[in-house]
Amino acid sequence: MKTEQVTCYYCHSSEFELYDTENGFNLVKCQQCGLLYVNPRPQMDDIKEAHQVGQHRGEEIIDVTGNFNHEKVEHYLDILQDFYGENPDFLAQKRWLDIGCGHGEFVKALEIFTKENCHVQGVEPNIYKQQSAQKEGLNVSFFDLDKCETKYNSISLLNVYSHLPDPIKILENWTRLLTEKGELLIQTGDSANLDQKDHHRPYYLPDHLSFVSEEILTHILKNLGFQIIEVKKYRFSEFRVPTVKNMAEETLKLIMPHQKSSLFTELFPNHPNRDMWIRAIKKE
Ligand SMILES: [Zn+2]
Repeated sequence: MKTEQVTCYYCHSSEFELYDTENGFNLVKCQQCGLLYVNPRPQMDDIKEAHQVGQHRGEEIIDVTGNFNHEKVEHYLDILQDFYGENPDFLAQKRWLDIGCGHGEFVKALEIFTKENCHVQGVEPNIYKQQSAQKEGLNVSFFDLDKCETKYNSISLLNVYSHLPDPIKILENWTRLLTEKGELLIQTGDSANLDQKDHHRPYYLPDHLSFVSEEILTHILKNLGFQIIEVKKYRFSEFRVPTVKNMAEETLKLIMPHQKSSLFTELFPNHPNRDMWIRAIKKE
């Protein structure tokens, strides 16, 4: 794989220190702003936007594994209620686009949340995931976002940001698809400020190309003309929720020989609430 040296896409500094390595790639920390990014990274010249979106969630373009996950729908419904309250009337007859929607769990959650009163559409390049979503009766397809002329009142990007090689430019492009006062809902990790020992692994390098902090991403959005409405953080989904049973099991492993306990890495890690969601509105 051909690689290229890059500078920090946020502050443009070329000064960095090594943070960690994985899969033959270096994850470095910008010494000026703290962004974590892959450097050198795979050459991106010939990678189309579709591939970037398709690679989200650390999976390959042609991936026949994985299924529509009903538990995810429930989780997303909780988050939608947390952000928008119990009354979704303001979304009635509006258009919502979920970019990189995968099997369509968030599209489904939006349909339930709005009582199918909002035009929810998902864009997903992976044909298997498209079909999986279509089987659930969801409006999911793939089309070229650069040529899209429809305007949307809301756009969501879940677990897409870390895959974008040039996120500022791509976000700027996608912002053009928003109506006046259109809204963005972005989910990504808030992990750039974590000590290396506390960062979740694997990093999925080089599918994931950068990790931000709340400060960096909110500044990027403000520079793109957004006003931040709300930032919320939830428990990172790969950290199991402690129960009496798993706490007992993992505590026992601490004292048993040849056992690896995940008590402090998964059940009670430092900074568990690193699943960051940002709601922002396009200023006039
Ligand atoms: Zn920087």
